Amino acid sequence: MKNLLAPTTLQFMVKPNQESRSAAEHADILANPGFGKHFTDHMVDICWSELGGWHRPRVQPYGPIALDPAAAVLHYAQEVFEGLKAYRHQDGGIYTFRPEMNAERMKRSAARLALPELPTEYFIESLRQLIAVDARWVPDAPDTSLYLRPFMFAKEAFLGVRPAAKVNYYVIASPAGAYFSGGVAPVSIWVSTDYARAGRGGMGAAKTGGNYASSLVAQQEAYDHGCAQVLFLDSEKSKYLEELGGMNVVFVYKDGRIVTPESSSILEGITLDSILQLAKDRGLNVEQRKVTIDEVREGVASGEITEMFACGTAAVVVPIAQFKAANYTIGEADAPAGELTLSLRQELTDIQYGRVADRHGWLTRLDA
Ligand SMILES: *Cc1c(COP(=O)(O)O)cnc(C)c1O
Repeated sequence: MKNLLAPTTLQFMVKPNQESRSAAEHADILANPGFGKHFTDHMVDICWSELGGWHRPRVQPYGPIALDPAAAVLHYAQEVFEGLKAYRHQDGGIYTFRPEMNAERMKRSAARLALPELPTEYFIESLRQLIAVDARWVPDAPDTSLYLRPFMFAKEAFLGVRPAAKVNYYVIASPAGAYFSGGVAPVSIWVSTDYARAGRGGMGAAKTGGNYASSLVAQQEAYDHGCAQVLFLDSEKSKYLEELGGMNVVFVYKDGRIVTPESSSILEGITLDSILQLAKDRGLNVEQRKVTIDEVREGVASGEITEMFACGTAAVVVPIAQFKAANYTIGEADAPAGELTLSLRQELTDIQYGRVADRHGWLTRLDA
């Protein structure tokens, strides 16, 4: 564990929520939190302007944000976000996982969207500040967490097309239940050939709402075909794998190799990076390279590829049973979860929940 108490020049003003949920309401929500449905009593709000830089950091009651109808984000989607979790450990402490990676990624996303870069120490301090008032919202049941959602958008009221001179950064938080209740269940994935999520020179590597907006019709197509998620291929040839709508994809080969697609339009997942590190720690060979859908089809048919999974913060690791496309299927819908898939998932969550040693220094304590 690292001590990330970097000095911050930001002095947060804290305005407690006079209408915070009662103990009974709180207990009701934590008994069945779901995902992204309920929010804590407070939120962080930091302003940025071209002239003043980052200023007026606040923790305030959770609630609606007043926007001018001409606010640039509503018209031109100048927005980025992050997603990470706070975990309650056995000793009661509240920890988060590799937050400096999220902070750095948010800077890269912001740079791509011509938004200001929030310093890493402000990012981490904003999480601490929110946890300081909303610690009771970090659940303690197995596999539950408090999902933290930092985001930033163009608030300036101006319809001309240029980077906004007024931007706000917020953090909201939402208690999250166990993603899989009753065993980690493999899913079927729809291979989209009509839609791409990003192209060369586009914003595929940025965590921005626009990428999700463009994925929604493909996701709907996936549901229509009985699939849980969609896999996107490259935009030019529909030949190389990219990623799912909000998760990276990984293949395990018979000889123990771990292969994941490489492309400039894939979002660099922190869960993926961590899984690959854990695989390397076990002496497995990791390859980040171009992967064709033909390689996957032939590899699964021949038995070269033995396991497939997707990974991301929300669900951690999801085994993939099958890929379905308009005129072929890869694998079997009832294929069981892979052994290595489950064991890497277990190891990663053991680290996140403090059940094993944090040998890479991935955890940051937020409540002390
Ligand atoms: C957030 C995200 C991921 C997963 O990243 P993690 O850091 O592992 O949560 C993958 N793909 C997309 C498009 C994403 O937005």
